[in-house]
Amino acid sequence: MASTLIIDLRHYLDDDGRLSTTMPAPARKFAEYMTLVAEAGTARPPGARWAAAALRCRQKLQRKACSGRLVVMRSEGPAQIEWRCPLCSYQGFLSGFTGTRWDLSSGLHATGRGEVEERVSFDELSALLAAPALGPSAYRVVVGARALDDEAVISVPRPELAAFIGSLAAPENHSRSGTQGKHIDAVRVRMSARLVGTEVRPPIDTSLDPAGVRGYWRIVEMELWARDYLDIDVDAFIEFQRDHIGSFQFGLVRGGIHYAIDRDDRPGLEWSWAGADERDDAAGRGWAVVSGDEMRGRIYIHRGDDSAFVARRATAPKGGAKTSQSTARRRPIVH
Ligand SMILES: [Zn+2]
Repeated sequence: MASTLIIDLRHYLDDDGRLSTTMPAPARKFAEYMTLVAEAGTARPPGARWAAAALRCRQKLQRKACSGRLVVMRSEGPAQIEWRCPLCSYQGFLSGFTGTRWDLSSGLHATGRGEVEERVSFDELSALLAAPALGPSAYRVVVGARALDDEAVISVPRPELAAFIGSLAAPENHSRSGTQGKHIDAVRVRMSARLVGTEVRPPIDTSLDPAGVRGYWRIVEMELWARDYLDIDVDAFIEFQRDHIGSFQFGLVRGGIHYAIDRDDRPGLEWSWAGADERDDAAGRGWAVVSGDEMRGRIYIHRGDDSAFVARRATAPKGGAKTSQSTARRRPIVH
């Protein structure tokens, strides 16, 4: 089993609350990393579990750096930040950060006035993190970025957007290497477009998948239909993606899914769907519970059949899961 690090940041500080200069280099590097954990962990409100884009895992796997981004959660009583790498065994708890210079929680507002979200590459994020003149609230935005697959998502509270863009434009942020300046400028230009534009985008779903429902599931069994019908057109499947959308097909029943994860911590989900049953438009709903690599649930066709199903986690076919047609072949209207 993986070992869990229990770290008290105060052990690495001198009387002035700075990182002690008497530490050997490896200890100092580790302590610097822990100050980044403290910053990222305090950049967002307590209680949420999220993937911190700024916190690249520092484990080495077969001499290569692990590419995971730490999932963190800060609690207030006791004040600690729990971290865990989703790709390897690196995990631990950090305490002793409250009131230190790396505790960013004091300027943290409750959100609710709306946030402007922007996707940035990990290279852009690194440039932003190293920017010499960001200002405290802009730095909190950057170090609080969420990891989303191979990118990061920064969320700027709308009232702070102009100030955020302004601090990116500060000349000090462009005096270093040309590449860093280019990255910072690219983010500034995109964010400026958001400031003047009236473009409305749906929120970016950076939520974690604690119930383990996302991905492609092969439908292997249904109560009402035999296997040869299920796979008559495509291999029967159900798939759940980010942003609460998905799709499915068994036999000639297929559709797009809009789903929600159950809130009461059960590893389950519910959805509605719209699509086709053979040549007719069809819709319905469904639910499922997940146990490891198995999903069991029931699919309902509105004003039609409903059937239990069993699905197994599988690899999506090349090119992604596809229903035989994205929309129903509507019957010709005959007058
Ligand atoms: Zn890792």
